Amino acid sequence: MIDCAIVGGGPAGLSAALVLGRARRSVLLLDDHKPRNAVTQAGHGYLTRDGVSPAEFRRLAREEAESYPTVRMRQGRVVTIERYAGLFRLRTESGHAVEARTLLLAAGLKEQLPDVPGLREMYGSSLFNCPYCDGWELRDAPIVAVSTSSNLFQQAKLLLGWSRDVLVCTHGQGQLTAQQQQALEARGVKVSRTRIAAFEGSGGKLKAVRFEDGTLIARSGGFITPEAMLGTQLGAQLGCAHDAGGAVMVDPYGRTTVPGVYAAGDTAGTSPSQLVIAAASGSRAAFGISGDLAEADFGPV
Ligand SMILES: Cc1cc2nc3c(=O)[nH]c(=O)nc-3n(C[C@H](O)[C@H](O)[C@H](O)COP(=O)(O)OP(=O)(O)OC[C@H]3O[C@@H](n4cnc5c(N)ncnc54)[C@H](O)[C@@H]3O)c2cc1C
Repeated sequence: MIDCAIVGGGPAGLSAALVLGRARRSVLLLDDHKPRNAVTQAGHGYLTRDGVSPAEFRRLAREEAESYPTVRMRQGRVVTIERYAGLFRLRTESGHAVEARTLLLAAGLKEQLPDVPGLREMYGSSLFNCPYCDGWELRDAPIVAVSTSSNLFQQAKLLLGWSRDVLVCTHGQGQLTAQQQQALEARGVKVSRTRIAAFEGSGGKLKAVRFEDGTLIARSGGFITPEAMLGTQLGAQLGCAHDAGGAVMVDPYGRTTVPGVYAAGDTAGTSPSQLVIAAASGSRAAFGISGDLAEADFGPV
C-alpha cells in the first residue's frame, strides 16, 4: 500500500512525484507513454530546457524523481480504479494491481485533428497548435491559421506578432464576422472561408494549402486548433465533478470534489496549456496530497 498512485507521467505527474519523493511519501507513477506533445521534435518555453525533445525532457524528469528512494515508476495504462476499504485499487491493462491511500490524475489530454489530408503528417513538424510553443520557429514565414472555433479572430491578431504574412482560414465554418474579416484584410491578412481540401508538402513540411475550390496558396507552416478531450475518464468514473470545458475541477492544491482524489496538469484544465504550468500544477497538487496525508497521519486533536 502506497501513499499516492499517480496516473500519468507528463510534467504534471512527474513534478508531483518529485515533490512527494522529497516529502518522503511512497509513490507509484503509472504511465502509458503517450504524451500529447509526442509529435513534436522540441518543446519550448520551459526555463533551462528550451528546445529539448519531449522524450529527453521526460527522461531527465524521471531520473530526478526516481533518485528518491520512495518513488517508483511503471509503464502501463490504468484501466480501472475502485474504492476499497478507504483505499484506491488501481488495475492496469496488463493486470497489475496497486493499492494507494491517495490518487493523482495527471493523464493529460488527447487531441482530435480535423480530418484533412496531409495534416497528420505535418502536425508537430510544420503545423502546430500553439504559437507560444512554435511561433518563433515560423517567424516572418508565410503562415496559415485554421480554426473552426470562435478563437480565430483573436488567434489571427496574435499571429501578426510572429509574421506579417498570415492566411486565416475558417475551413468553411464561418467563425469570423464580416467586420472582423474587413479589419484583418485592412491589415494585410488574407482570409479564406472555403473548406481546405489538403495540406500539401512532403517530409512533414507544408508547402501549400489547397482549397476545395481548387485555389492553392503557398505557405510554409501554421497553426490549427484541434479538439481536445481528457486522456482518461477515470475521474468521471470516480465521481469527480468536471467544469463546462470538460476538465476535472480542482481547488488550488489539486483536490477534486472526491476526497483522496487529486488532479493536475491538462487533466485539471490548467491554462494556458504549457509544460511549465502543468509542472507547477503537479507541484501544487503534491503539496495538497502531502499536507492532507500529514493531517490524516496525525489524527484528531
Ligand atoms: C503538438 C504540441 C506541441 C506542444 N509544444 C509545447 C511546447 O513547446 N511548450 C510547452 O510548454 N507546451 C507545449 N505543448 C503543451 C504540453 O505538451 C502540455 O501542456 C503538457 O504536456 C501537459 O502536461 P500533462 O502532464 O498534463 O500531460 P501529458 O504531458 O499529456 O502527460 C499525460 C500522460 O498521461 C498518460 N496517460 C493518459 N491516460 C493514462 C492512463 N489511463 N494510464 C496511464 N497513463 C496514462 C499519457 O500517456 C501521458 O504520458 C504542446 C502540445 C502539443 C499537442
